[in-house]
Amino acid sequence: MKKSESVFSQIIKKKVKAEIIYTDRQVVAFKDINPQAPVHVLIVPRKSIPSLSAASEKDALLLGRMLLVAKKIAQQMKVDQDGFRLVLNQGKFGGQTVYHLHFHLLGGRRMMWPPG
Ligand code: AMP
Repeated sequence: MKKSESVFSQIIKKKVKAEIIYTDRQVVAFKDINPQAPVHVLIVPRKSIPSLSAASEKDALLLGRMLLVAKKIAQQMKVDQDGFRLVLNQGKFGGQTVYHLHFHLLGGRRMMWPPG
C-alpha cells in the first residue's frame, strides 16, 4: 500500500469495507461512516485528486460527471423531491479531513443555513 493512499482509495480498491451504493467507471459512492443526516453519501472519483484546489482543466468532465451522479443518487435515495444538500469541504478552514476529493450528499432532514 502506498503511504499516501487515502482511506477513500482503499475503499475504491476494496481494501477497506464501506457500504457502496453506486459505482461506474469514474465514480464511486458510499455511505458516510459518521452520518450527519438520515441520508449521508460520499461521492468520490476513482481518480485520486487530493482536493478541489488540486483539480485541473483535465478534470472538468469528471467534476461535471460527479454532479450528475449526485442527482442520480438523490433519486436513488429518495431525497430528490424534498431536496438535499451537496457539500465540498476544501482544506483546513473548509473542514476537509480526507484528502481525496469528494462531495457529501446530505438529505432526509431540513438543512440549516448558514452551515456551522
Ligand atoms: P471531509 O471532512 O469533507 O474530508 O469528509 C470526510 C468524511 O469521510 C467524513 O464525513 C467522515 O465521516 C468520512 N469517512 C472517513 N472514513 C470513512 C470510511 N472508512 N468510510 C466512510 N466514510 C468515512
